[in-house]
Amino acid sequence: MVLGSLADGLLDGAGALADRASGWLEPTLRLGVTGLSRSGKTVFVTALIASLLRRGRLAGLVPEAEGRIIAAMIGRQPDPAVPRFPFERNLSALTGAEPRWPEPTRSVSQIRLSLRYRPTGFAAALSGRSTLHLDIVDYPGEWLADIPLMEQDYADWAAAALAEAETPRRAPHAAGWRAALAAADPAARHGEPAAEALAAAWAGYLRAGRDAGLSALSPGRLLMPGDLEGSPALTFAPLPRPDRPPRDSLWAEMARRFEDYKRVVARPFFRDHFAGIDRQVVLVDTLGALARGPAAMGDLIEGMTATLGAFRHGRPWWFDRLLGGRRIDRLLFAATKADHLHSEQHANLAALTEAMLSEASARAAYRGAETRAMAIAAIRATAEQEATRGGERLALVRGRNAETGREVAVFPGRLPENPRPLIAAATGGEMADWPEDRFETVPFAPPDWGGRPENGPPHIRLDKALDFLVGDRLE
Ligand code: GDP
Repeated sequence: MVLGSLADGLLDGAGALADRASGWLEPTLRLGVTGLSRSGKTVFVTALIASLLRRGRLAGLVPEAEGRIIAAMIGRQPDPAVPRFPFERNLSALTGAEPRWPEPTRSVSQIRLSLRYRPTGFAAALSGRSTLHLDIVDYPGEWLADIPLMEQDYADWAAAALAEAETPRRAPHAAGWRAALAAADPAARHGEPAAEALAAAWAGYLRAGRDAGLSALSPGRLLMPGDLEGSPALTFAPLPRPDRPPRDSLWAEMARRFEDYKRVVARPFFRDHFAGIDRQVVLVDTLGALARGPAAMGDLIEGMTATLGAFRHGRPWWFDRLLGGRRIDRLLFAATKADHLHSEQHANLAALTEAMLSEASARAAYRGAETRAMAIAAIRATAEQEATRGGERLALVRGRNAETGREVAVFPGRLPENPRPLIAAATGGEMADWPEDRFETVPFAPPDWGGRPENGPPHIRLDKALDFLVGDRLE
C-alpha cells in the first residue's frame, strides 16, 4: 500500500512536470463537469461546446463580447485512454428533425476544445494571439460520494452505512435490504451466492433511494458502475462485525472486497481523472429536489456538503498527495433547467441554490476555491407567457411536452423570495410551508433550433457560467 502510493506519487510528479512544460507553451485548463444522474451534465457539455464552436448567444462571456475570441475548434483528444465525450452524436440528437435529448452520462469522458484568442494588455503586445486548450472532463457525481469512504476501513464504513439505512429518510427504501441482511450470517463461511445476494440487495436499496431523489448514497459505483458492472470489486455490502470473524467468513471476504473497491475502483478515478481538475462545475437539480420534497432537498444539501469536502483546501494529506497537490480555484454550483421557471423567478432559484450552498459550506467548514451559485438552463426549451386567472397575473412557461408531444403552458409554482424556511424544512424535517403541491415539473422536449445553427443553442446564463469558469483565462 505504502509502496503503491509512493510509486504513484512519483509518477504523478513526473506527469505534472511534463504537463507544466507543455502548459507553459499552450496553457491547458481542465474543467470538471459533474452532478448526480440526470442533473444535466450531458446537455451542459454539449451546449457549451456548440455555443463556443458557433460563438452564438455568448454576450455574457466577456472575451467574446470584446471580440477577442478568434476561433474555437475541437482539439486532439488529450488522453487516448479516456473515452471521448460524444459531442457530435449528442448534437445530432438535439438538432435532428425531431429534436431529442441526448443519452445521459454513465461514466467518465473527456473532450478538448482549443480556443484561439487575442489576449489583453502586455501579453497582447508580445504575441498578438494565444491558444487555450479547454479540456472538459464529464463524470458522474455519484463517484464523488466515495471520498469519505476512502478514509474508512470496512468495519467503520459498514457501521455508518448500516446506521444510515435506518434513518427516517432512508428506512422506507431499505425493506428489501433488511430482509437480505436478516437472512445472512456474517460469521458463516463465505459463499459467492450469499455475497451476490447481499450486494444485489444493497444496490437495490441505493437505487430505490436515488429514484426517490436522495443524493448522498455510497458506494457511488454501485449506482453508476460505468464499465465495471458485475465485477467482484462491486460485489459487496455492509455487514455488522461478528466477534472474532474467521478469515474465511463472509464478513472477512466483504472486508477484502471493500479494500479492493478502494484500490481498483475509487482510487484510480481520483488519481486519473479528478486529480488534474483546475475548475469545477457541479450541476444541481434544485427544482427536481424541490418538487420531490424536503427529504430530497435535505439529501441534496448533504451531497453538496460532501462535494465541498472534496474541494476543500486542507483536505486529508493522502488525498492531497493523490491529487499531486493540485487545487481547483473556482467552483460553480449551477442549478440547471431554470427554463422550467419564468425569468421573474430566476433570482429566487439562484437565491435558493445559494442558501443551499452556504448551508453546505458551513457544514463542511469550507475554505478554499472561490465558489458561486447560479441558476442556468444549458438549453432553453421554453418560452415565456403571461395569463390572468381569477384576477391574478400568472407568469407561465410554454413548451412542448416530450411525452405527449403537445404544446403546453404551465404555471410551475412560486419560489419564495426568502429561501431560509425551505432550507430549515429540508434540514430540520419541518414540513410546514413546503411548496410541494404547488410545484409541477413537465418533461419539456428540446427546442427546435437546428434550422439556425449559426446562432448556437438558446440558453439561460450559460454564457455567464462560462465566463466565471474560463473568462479570466482568456485575458
Ligand atoms: P446527466 O445524467 O447529468 O448527463 O443528465 P442529462 O444532461 O442527460 O439531462 C437529463 C435530462 O434533464 C435531459 O434528458 C433533459 O430532459 C433534462 N435537461 C437537462 N438540461 C436541461 C435544460 O437545460 N433544460 C431543460 N428543459 N431540460 C434539461
